[in-house]
Amino acid sequence: MTEQHTKQPKAMKLVGVKGMNDILPPDSGRWEWLETQVRGLMARYAYRNVRLPIVEPTALFVRGLGEVTDIVEKEMYSFEDRLNGEQLTLRPEGTAGLVRAVVEHNLLYEGGKRLYYMGPMFRHERPQRGRYRQFHQIGAEVLGFGGPEVDAELILLANDLWKVLGLKDVRLELNSLGQPEERKAHRAALIAHFEQHLELLDDDAKRRLHSNPLRILDTKNPAMAQVVEAAPQLLDFLGAASLAHFNAVKAILDANGIAYLINPRLVRGMDYYNLTVFEFITESLGSQGTICGGGRYDYLIEQVGGKPSPAVGWALGVERVLELIKEQGEALAAPAPDVYAIIPDAAALPQAIHTLQALRAAGVSAQMHAGTGEGMGSMKSQFKKADGSGAAYALIFGADELTRGEVTVKSLRDGQGVQRCERLDTVLQWAASLQSV
Ligand code: ATP
Ligand code: MG
Repeated sequence: MTEQHTKQPKAMKLVGVKGMNDILPPDSGRWEWLETQVRGLMARYAYRNVRLPIVEPTALFVRGLGEVTDIVEKEMYSFEDRLNGEQLTLRPEGTAGLVRAVVEHNLLYEGGKRLYYMGPMFRHERPQRGRYRQFHQIGAEVLGFGGPEVDAELILLANDLWKVLGLKDVRLELNSLGQPEERKAHRAALIAHFEQHLELLDDDAKRRLHSNPLRILDTKNPAMAQVVEAAPQLLDFLGAASLAHFNAVKAILDANGIAYLINPRLVRGMDYYNLTVFEFITESLGSQGTICGGGRYDYLIEQVGGKPSPAVGWALGVERVLELIKEQGEALAAPAPDVYAIIPDAAALPQAIHTLQALRAAGVSAQMHAGTGEGMGSMKSQFKKADGSGAAYALIFGADELTRGEVTVKSLRDGQGVQRCERLDTVLQWAASLQSV
């Protein structure tokens, strides 16, 4: 430690980075629950998990997402590796890294893949409700299949997830971005339209007018709503093949009772999309109402240096989904141990802990009373802690009982505090009965 470090005033309180949140109990219980639901559902759709690095080469995102995008222009946490000068970035999204990994490990060698990931993403945005600098995404990606049936499968999967999570009033918006050739003609029409209304464009839009006019449609500036509303629609520029793909997706959704709204202005924030794009939106979260977005990205794999292969996927914002669960869903029961061990005298600790270990091995959730370092505390305070833990039973490891080879079991939840003695050697049987209650 340097001189300077040791001289730092002790009282200085360090706080977390703005827009990066701690996830603590009881909220973390909801996170775990959601993750469990997602894993179950992904398994039912035969999607396999991938875990990828949080740091990637900056070039991956610049090339993959597009230079003229919100993320690359202003939201990336980038830095130079101090040792070798490499330009690195905290991943702002998951698709580019996943595609990088798929190409690097030649995963499509044996055919298509269905994959999913969960984890933190980083974007330097203005923190507000539903918008953070470290946030979490769960993403599902299907690589190597070009047909509309996988677009539809991904939408059905997301829709099932809302059902499993008990979410209501989530609207699906759908659009097709066609193919690059079709976008060229639309682009020219778009530039002509916006050039006629230059006075209505904000600085971002003016800057993007010739570099990436499609991005203007993605604006969050309400002052530009009208001029964007009146802009030429990509759907009118689609050829037969693109329309057929779009119609096939819609037909599968129709046949499966999935309602959707065609939104011709839905373009999504990244350049890599083509054909189908979609978002799931709720009105219950204020202006940060998009909980999930995705689409087809048939040219990204090639862009990242792989053999051309079609792909499609979505990513959902975990914080927004959890916020919606809180607003709409049923309250999650607070987690509680099955038993709380009251230990009046520290001398009983070795034997008490031995019994608790056997209970835990049998699947019982057991919380041990812990002292302050100067004894175990009064019986009164231990019972108070036992009550507060939410446990169904207190196990009282009293010295007298222990010498008889027994432990006292007291019910904390029946209102009468019924108490009985159990033999230590049969307490496991009692635990088994506890599990079946
Ligand atoms: P937005 O339009 O709200 O900025 P986006 O188009 O940038 O969203 P995507 O890149 O498509 O978002 O990411 C997919 C999902 O991740 C979003 O629909 C949203 O739920 C979530 N998300 C994106 N950025 C943030 C953020 N800064 N904080 C929390 N969640 C986010
Ligand atoms: Mg954004």
